[in-house]
Amino acid sequence: MTRLLLWDVDRTLLVGGGVGVEAYAAAFTAVTGLEWVGSLVAAGRTDLSITPELFAQHGIADHTPYLGAFFARYADEFAARGDAMAAHGRVLPGVPEVLAALHADPGVVQTLVTGNIAAVGVAKVAAFGLDRFFDTRIGGYGDDHPVRSELVGRARERAEAVHGPFADGDVLVIGDTVLDVGAALAAGVVAVGVATGPSTTQELAAAGAHHVLEDLSDVAATIALLSG
Ligand SMILES: [Mg+2]
Repeated sequence: MTRLLLWDVDRTLLVGGGVGVEAYAAAFTAVTGLEWVGSLVAAGRTDLSITPELFAQHGIADHTPYLGAFFARYADEFAARGDAMAAHGRVLPGVPEVLAALHADPGVVQTLVTGNIAAVGVAKVAAFGLDRFFDTRIGGYGDDHPVRSELVGRARERAEAVHGPFADGDVLVIGDTVLDVGAALAAGVVAVGVATGPSTTQELAAAGAHHVLEDLSDVAATIALLSG
């Protein structure tokens, strides 16, 4: 294997249509007994960094006693909404074609680096039939560490344990926010920004992205860029 592609999920591969937040809120109420009134901008952040803030918004200063049960319930609530995800969400342009072509390339390994907890990140791509393109035994997830750059490092370690070493220049993070770009740079790997989320092409470039795309709709060009 020569290339490791580390894909963000939300707004890079797909749009969830609010189903993740619904599942999160339902899990919160189930585990704490409190009505959900949470609100924050989660884009590009990890569930382990978001969750303490959302619990604090409800007056829970120490979320840690709830964490294991909460993440387990969140995974269950999300799994129960897989059909809603497929109905209300959508895959972004070019994504299935790009993932399929890169999956067929024997030199490429694809997995996820997402702020979602592993069960939810994998369920999101599975809702659209995209999970077959990823090695989800590996990857970096929002229940691994609160700091996104650590997820990149974790994903690389896991990938190298299975597939052998990759050069820094052959590890690519593909994501839609300046936080994805920053995480890639902090981990010493290549950042590919895609402007299908909250960050503009200018913002992604200014954050230091090595490559910036409007979206993945130019399938041939995207495959050429990512496969090297
Ligand atoms: Mg994203």
